[in-house]
Amino acid sequence: MERTIMVLIGAPGSGKGTASKRLKKDLGLLHVSTGDVLRENVKNGTELGLKAKSYMDAGGLVPDEVIIGMVKELLELPEASKGVIFDGFPRTISQAEALDTMLAEKGVEVTAALNIEVPFEEIEKRMANRRTCSSCGSIYSLDFNPPTVEGKCDCNGDLIQREDEKPEVVKGRLATYKAQSAPLVDYYGNAGNLYQDSAGDIVGKTTHQVVDEFQEFLKSK
Ligand code: AMP
Repeated sequence: MERTIMVLIGAPGSGKGTASKRLKKDLGLLHVSTGDVLRENVKNGTELGLKAKSYMDAGGLVPDEVIIGMVKELLELPEASKGVIFDGFPRTISQAEALDTMLAEKGVEVTAALNIEVPFEEIEKRMANRRTCSSCGSIYSLDFNPPTVEGKCDCNGDLIQREDEKPEVVKGRLATYKAQSAPLVDYYGNAGNLYQDSAGDIVGKTTHQVVDEFQEFLKSK
Protein backbone atom coordinates (compact mmCIF):
# COMPACT_ATOMS: atom_id res chain seq x y z
CA MET A 1 0.00 0.00 0.00
CA GLU A 2 1.15 3.52 -0.76
CA ARG A 3 2.43 5.34 2.32
CA THR A 4 0.40 8.43 3.28
CA ILE A 5 2.43 11.44 4.37
CA MET A 6 0.53 14.43 5.77
CA VAL A 7 2.14 17.69 6.68
CA LEU A 8 0.44 20.16 9.00
CA ILE A 9 1.70 23.69 8.78
CA GLY A 10 0.14 26.71 10.53
CA ALA A 11 1.26 29.00 13.34
CA PRO A 12 1.77 27.71 16.88
CA GLY A 13 -1.63 27.50 18.57
CA SER A 14 -3.57 27.27 15.30
CA GLY A 15 -5.00 23.82 16.17
CA LYS A 16 -2.48 21.53 14.45
CA GLY A 17 -2.40 19.25 17.51
CA THR A 18 -6.19 18.84 17.56
CA ALA A 19 -6.27 18.28 13.79
CA SER A 20 -3.50 15.67 14.04
CA LYS A 21 -5.28 13.72 16.77
CA ARG A 22 -8.45 13.59 14.63
CA LEU A 23 -6.52 12.52 11.52
CA LYS A 24 -4.63 9.88 13.50
CA LYS A 25 -7.91 8.44 14.78
CA ASP A 26 -9.62 8.56 11.36
CA LEU A 27 -6.70 7.37 9.23
CA GLY A 28 -4.64 5.25 11.64
CA LEU A 29 -1.34 6.94 10.85
CA LEU A 30 1.59 7.67 13.16
CA HIS A 31 1.38 11.19 14.63
CA VAL A 32 4.76 12.88 14.86
CA SER A 33 4.80 16.20 16.70
CA THR A 34 8.39 17.41 16.61
CA GLY A 35 7.54 19.83 19.47
CA ASP A 36 6.33 16.91 21.64
CA VAL A 37 9.40 14.80 20.82
CA LEU A 38 11.66 17.73 21.71
CA ARG A 39 9.79 18.46 24.99
CA GLU A 40 10.08 14.79 25.97
CA ASN A 41 13.83 14.94 25.34
CA VAL A 42 14.17 18.14 27.39
CA LYS A 43 12.21 16.50 30.23
CA ASN A 44 14.45 13.42 30.16
CA GLY A 45 17.63 15.51 29.90
CA THR A 46 18.89 13.73 26.77
CA GLU A 47 21.68 15.12 24.59
CA LEU A 48 19.07 16.18 22.01
CA GLY A 49 17.04 17.88 24.75
CA LEU A 50 20.08 19.79 25.99
CA LYS A 51 20.79 21.01 22.44
CA ALA A 52 17.18 22.11 21.89
CA LYS A 53 16.15 23.71 25.21
CA SER A 54 17.61 27.20 24.85
CA TYR A 55 16.10 27.67 21.36
CA MET A 56 12.69 26.45 22.55
CA ASP A 57 12.62 28.63 25.66
CA ALA A 58 13.47 31.66 23.55
CA GLY A 59 10.69 30.94 21.04
CA GLY A 60 13.14 30.35 18.19
CA LEU A 61 13.63 27.30 15.97
CA VAL A 62 15.90 24.39 16.81
CA PRO A 63 18.61 24.12 14.08
CA ASP A 64 17.53 22.31 10.91
CA GLU A 65 20.23 19.61 11.09
CA VAL A 66 19.08 18.57 14.60
CA ILE A 67 15.44 18.32 13.49
CA ILE A 68 16.19 16.59 10.20
CA GLY A 69 18.32 13.92 11.95
CA MET A 70 15.50 13.34 14.43
CA VAL A 71 12.84 12.98 11.71
CA LYS A 72 15.04 10.60 9.71
CA GLU A 73 15.08 8.21 12.69
CA LEU A 74 11.33 8.55 13.27
CA LEU A 75 10.58 7.69 9.62
CA GLU A 76 12.30 4.32 10.14
CA LEU A 77 9.97 3.27 12.97
CA PRO A 78 7.78 0.25 12.14
CA GLU A 79 4.74 2.32 13.27
CA ALA A 80 5.52 4.74 10.42
CA SER A 81 5.14 2.09 7.73
CA LYS A 82 1.50 2.93 6.87
CA GLY A 83 2.13 6.66 6.95
CA VAL A 84 2.84 9.68 9.10
CA ILE A 85 1.09 12.89 10.12
CA PHE A 86 3.78 15.51 10.68
CA ASP A 87 2.65 18.19 13.11
CA GLY A 88 4.96 21.20 13.34
CA PHE A 89 7.41 19.81 10.78
CA PRO A 90 8.66 21.05 8.36
CA ARG A 91 9.05 24.55 9.72
CA THR A 92 11.56 25.91 7.19
CA ILE A 93 12.00 25.51 3.45
CA SER A 94 15.21 23.55 4.01
CA GLN A 95 13.38 21.12 6.30
CA ALA A 96 10.70 20.71 3.59
CA GLU A 97 13.39 20.02 0.97
CA ALA A 98 15.12 17.54 3.30
CA LEU A 99 11.79 15.74 3.86
CA ASP A 100 11.20 15.51 0.11
CA THR A 101 14.69 14.00 -0.31
CA MET A 102 14.21 11.49 2.55
CA LEU A 103 10.87 10.42 1.10
CA ALA A 104 12.16 10.23 -2.48
CA GLU A 105 14.78 7.73 -1.29
CA LYS A 106 11.86 5.53 -0.28
CA GLY A 107 9.87 6.21 -3.46
CA VAL A 108 7.28 8.26 -1.55
CA GLU A 109 6.00 11.86 -1.74
CA VAL A 110 4.10 14.19 0.58
CA THR A 111 0.45 13.26 0.01
CA ALA A 112 -1.08 16.52 1.23
CA ALA A 113 -0.30 19.58 3.34
CA LEU A 114 -2.91 21.23 5.54
CA ASN A 115 -2.56 24.85 6.55
CA ILE A 116 -4.88 26.21 9.23
CA GLU A 117 -4.87 29.98 9.49
CA VAL A 118 -5.98 31.57 12.75
CA PRO A 119 -5.70 35.33 13.38
CA PHE A 120 -2.59 36.09 15.46
CA GLU A 121 -4.53 38.13 18.09
CA GLU A 122 -6.71 35.08 18.76
CA ILE A 123 -3.65 32.82 19.10
CA GLU A 124 -2.11 35.22 21.64
CA LYS A 125 -5.32 35.16 23.70
CA ARG A 126 -5.57 31.34 23.53
CA MET A 127 -1.96 30.81 24.61
CA ALA A 128 -2.27 33.28 27.50
CA ASN A 129 -5.14 31.15 28.85
CA ARG A 130 -3.57 27.75 28.33
CA ARG A 131 -2.30 25.70 31.29
CA THR A 132 -0.60 22.29 31.14
CA CYS A 133 -0.42 19.61 33.83
CA SER A 134 3.20 19.15 34.88
CA SER A 135 2.42 15.54 35.72
CA CYS A 136 0.18 14.01 32.99
CA GLY A 137 0.37 16.69 30.26
CA SER A 138 -3.41 17.40 30.10
CA ILE A 139 -4.24 20.81 28.69
CA TYR A 140 -6.76 23.25 30.22
CA SER A 141 -8.02 26.59 29.04
CA LEU A 142 -8.80 29.13 31.75
CA ASP A 143 -11.74 30.46 29.72
CA PHE A 144 -13.50 27.49 28.07
CA ASN A 145 -12.14 24.40 29.88
CA PRO A 146 -11.04 25.58 33.36
CA PRO A 147 -9.71 23.16 36.00
CA THR A 148 -12.16 22.16 38.77
CA VAL A 149 -9.65 23.23 41.42
CA GLU A 150 -7.60 26.33 40.60
CA GLY A 151 -4.02 25.46 39.67
CA LYS A 152 -4.65 21.69 39.87
CA CYS A 153 -5.24 19.01 37.23
CA ASP A 154 -7.92 16.32 37.76
CA CYS A 155 -4.96 13.94 38.37
CA ASN A 156 -3.85 16.32 41.18
CA GLY A 157 -0.72 17.41 39.29
CA ASP A 158 0.22 21.12 39.31
CA LEU A 159 -0.91 23.22 36.36
CA ILE A 160 1.78 25.41 34.84
CA GLN A 161 2.07 27.92 32.04
CA ARG A 162 4.62 26.53 29.59
CA GLU A 163 7.68 28.76 29.31
CA ASP A 164 7.09 29.12 25.56
CA GLU A 165 3.42 30.00 26.08
CA LYS A 166 4.18 33.15 28.07
CA PRO A 167 2.95 36.25 26.18
CA GLU A 168 6.35 37.74 25.31
CA VAL A 169 7.63 34.37 24.02
CA VAL A 170 4.43 33.78 22.01
CA LYS A 171 4.95 37.09 20.20
CA GLY A 172 8.45 35.89 19.27
CA ARG A 173 7.18 32.48 18.11
CA LEU A 174 4.58 34.13 15.87
CA ALA A 175 7.25 36.40 14.39
CA THR A 176 9.46 33.33 13.81
CA TYR A 177 6.52 31.59 12.11
CA LYS A 178 5.86 34.55 9.83
CA ALA A 179 9.50 34.86 8.80
CA GLN A 180 10.53 31.21 8.51
CA SER A 181 7.47 28.97 8.21
CA ALA A 182 4.85 31.01 6.32
CA PRO A 183 6.81 30.52 3.03
CA LEU A 184 5.88 26.80 3.31
CA VAL A 185 2.36 27.71 2.22
CA ASP A 186 3.70 28.67 -1.22
CA TYR A 187 6.12 25.71 -1.22
CA TYR A 188 3.26 23.20 -0.92
CA GLY A 189 0.90 25.40 -2.95
CA ASN A 190 3.34 25.29 -5.87
CA ALA A 191 3.67 21.51 -5.46
CA GLY A 192 -0.13 21.30 -5.89
CA ASN A 193 -0.90 19.41 -2.67
CA LEU A 194 -1.95 22.18 -0.30
CA TYR A 195 -5.31 22.44 1.43
CA GLN A 196 -5.69 25.93 2.87
CA ASP A 197 -8.36 26.92 5.39
CA SER A 198 -9.07 29.34 8.22
CA ALA A 199 -10.39 28.64 11.71
CA GLY A 200 -10.98 30.24 15.06
CA ASP A 201 -13.62 32.18 16.97
CA ILE A 202 -13.20 35.27 14.81
CA VAL A 203 -13.56 33.21 11.62
CA GLY A 204 -16.37 31.09 13.12
CA LYS A 205 -15.00 27.68 12.16
CA THR A 206 -13.60 24.94 14.41
CA THR A 207 -10.55 22.79 13.72
CA HIS A 208 -12.86 19.76 13.45
CA GLN A 209 -14.83 21.43 10.63
CA VAL A 210 -11.56 22.17 8.85
CA VAL A 211 -10.50 18.51 9.23
CA ASP A 212 -13.85 17.30 7.80
CA GLU A 213 -13.34 19.48 4.74
CA PHE A 214 -9.70 18.42 4.45
CA GLN A 215 -10.74 14.76 4.42
CA GLU A 216 -13.13 15.51 1.54
CA PHE A 217 -10.17 17.11 -0.27
CA LEU A 218 -8.11 13.94 0.37
CA LYS A 219 -10.82 11.77 -1.19
CA SER A 220 -10.83 13.98 -4.28
CA LYS A 221 -7.08 13.52 -4.84
P1 AMP B 1 5.55 23.22 18.92
O1 AMP B 1 4.98 22.52 20.11
O2 AMP B 1 5.36 22.48 17.65
O3 AMP B 1 5.08 24.65 18.80
O4 AMP B 1 7.13 23.28 19.16
C1 AMP B 1 7.69 23.87 20.30
C2 AMP B 1 9.09 24.39 19.99
O5 AMP B 1 9.92 23.29 19.56
C3 AMP B 1 9.17 25.39 18.86
O6 AMP B 1 8.91 26.72 19.30
C4 AMP B 1 10.61 25.21 18.38
O7 AMP B 1 11.53 25.82 19.27
C5 AMP B 1 10.79 23.71 18.51
N1 AMP B 1 10.42 22.99 17.27
C6 AMP B 1 9.38 22.13 17.08
N2 AMP B 1 9.34 21.65 15.83
C7 AMP B 1 10.39 22.25 15.18
C8 AMP B 1 10.87 22.21 13.85
N3 AMP B 1 10.28 21.45 12.90
N4 AMP B 1 11.97 22.96 13.55
C9 AMP B 1 12.59 23.73 14.48
N5 AMP B 1 12.17 23.82 15.75
C10 AMP B 1 11.08 23.10 16.10
